[in-house]
Amino acid sequence: MSPARQSVRHQRLHQTSIQLQGREVLVTIQSMKRKSLRLGVNAAGEVEVKIPLRCPKHELMAFLSQHTVWLEQRLEQLELMQQAQCEQMQYLGKGYRFQPSEQKSKQPVLIDGTCYYPQSWSTENLLAKIESWQRGQAKEIYQQLIDQWWPQFSQGALIERPVLRVKKMRSRWGSLSSKGFINLNLKLIELSPEIIEMVVVHELCHSHHFDHSANFYRLMAEKLPHYKDVEAELKRIEKGS
Ligand SMILES: [Zn+2]
Repeated sequence: MSPARQSVRHQRLHQTSIQLQGREVLVTIQSMKRKSLRLGVNAAGEVEVKIPLRCPKHELMAFLSQHTVWLEQRLEQLELMQQAQCEQMQYLGKGYRFQPSEQKSKQPVLIDGTCYYPQSWSTENLLAKIESWQRGQAKEIYQQLIDQWWPQFSQGALIERPVLRVKKMRSRWGSLSSKGFINLNLKLIELSPEIIEMVVVHELCHSHHFDHSANFYRLMAEKLPHYKDVEAELKRIEKGS
């Protein structure tokens, strides 16, 4: 430890600022016993440059201006990384923080509120990768629910066994078309299994009643007696977001 401590004593710290993409960025300069200039961005997003003790100012400024593109990229990357870290993934009614990890699995691994994802996934692509993983999960989980519930609806239904389509929809959680498609919102995968099931059962009830008539709700209550509680829970979530 002692050589390092000695070099610290010889360091001189001062600051300058440079223009990056129209904004002023503060650069901390450490002059120290070294041969070359070295530029870095620390975890807090501060730009640091290490320079030899007798480095003339014009040389430093030339070095900085040569590296503006690199700096801009590095700062942008850091910002994206911080955004992704703040952001949580919602999955089946629970929140997960993102954490890169050295894992064999090419898929996210969820443990105790953390979503571990392969280190090779760049931060820029993280949310897109997560979405495509969620789409795969959604297809599987929604299909299982349809397979599980359809036998209770097939007899006397106005359509054949509906074909699943997972979609991004703005204003609806699901719909059933008379052509036999059951459209379910990708976003449903963020909500609890009870809510997903309620939406699936709701859409399947439409295979007997293509409206929200009293008969429709009678069927709904017969199939899922607690559906009103689950609907109320969904309403609470909709209001919260
Ligand atoms: Zn409906």
